Amino acid sequence: MDADRRRLLQLLTATCAVCPLAAAGILRAEDGDGAVAAEFWSEAGEQKVTCALCPRKCTVADLERGTCGVRENRGGKYYTLVHSSVCAMNNDPIEKKPLFHFRPGSMAFSIATAGCNMECRFCQNWEISQFRPEQVTSRRLTPAEVVAEAGQAGSRAIAFTYSEPVVAWEYVRDVCAAAQDTGIGRVMISNGYIEKEPMRRLLPLLDAVKIDFKAFSESFYRELCSARLRPVLDTLRTIRASGVWLEIVVLLIPTLNDDRREIRAMCRWIVQELGPSVPVHFTRFHPSYKLVNLPPTPVNTLEAARQIAKEQGIRHAYAGNVPGHPAEDTICHACGHTLIKRYGFQIRFNRMRDGTCPSCGEPVAGVWN
Ligand code: SF4
Repeated sequence: MDADRRRLLQLLTATCAVCPLAAAGILRAEDGDGAVAAEFWSEAGEQKVTCALCPRKCTVADLERGTCGVRENRGGKYYTLVHSSVCAMNNDPIEKKPLFHFRPGSMAFSIATAGCNMECRFCQNWEISQFRPEQVTSRRLTPAEVVAEAGQAGSRAIAFTYSEPVVAWEYVRDVCAAAQDTGIGRVMISNGYIEKEPMRRLLPLLDAVKIDFKAFSESFYRELCSARLRPVLDTLRTIRASGVWLEIVVLLIPTLNDDRREIRAMCRWIVQELGPSVPVHFTRFHPSYKLVNLPPTPVNTLEAARQIAKEQGIRHAYAGNVPGHPAEDTICHACGHTLIKRYGFQIRFNRMRDGTCPSCGEPVAGVWN
């Protein structure tokens, strides 16, 4: 960091420190450039802080940032730089998230802020996830404005998506709180790389979570994502135990995580730890970011993974990124009746009746109203 920027930040921090309303907790600790006081950190001596939001647990020196690039130490206090700073916004079908058992056919007002706490070599949204806030074009959107925009767009949910909402924890919390009692749902699309306490505190504000389950191997997480598998497993258990609706996506990448034994072990773990009714989407990889030397996933790999999932007892296993494939449809696990027919993100028909199969009456897990 150059000396001029350090000096500017020191002045801004000093200005914030003397604000009597902020000191009294009446105003947020904003410092003039949009930074907001962060949660989940502790002092680590010599004006350093240790972040406890995600399993990286970065220790950050004064005027430096954690690995995600969006949380900064200013004078021994920690701040988020992405509160109300939206770098991507769109009204998407909920099927695009993908969430197939959550208000099918509805729209989700989708927003993102810069940054991520993983460094996946195959990231599809690296232009925002792997950049710092000042490196992307953002629009200021307060939580109340997000809710208003979602309402005007006719969205039935607000989705935190595209990049990694975990690193924007305070903004996600505040948008969710602003949307409570409006009838607009809150859904989070995440890598699940978060500590237990912040996840537990978000869950009562959320209606659904989709987790990208990258692989069932520590070496994959370490070598391709600069992360660890175990904390993601813990997050999946925490979400499931909370009762918040959960769906899982597994992006199958040729030669890297498509080993049949590994897929079988992953599916067995899902059934044992989360139960058979959590939908699993096996989606097709396309070369992207730093992983351009591999071909797209063959469709028969997705079909084989889906077959393995069914053999292990997963009731709803889908194939993704293959528009028109019959594995996009929701089938009654009891009688085989086609309940929801899809083409890509579009619903061709929905025969669900009050969350049950109209043919045999079997309840189907999900949020259908
Ligand atoms: S949220 Fe960011 S700063 Fe905090 S531990 Fe994770 S990567 Fe580090």
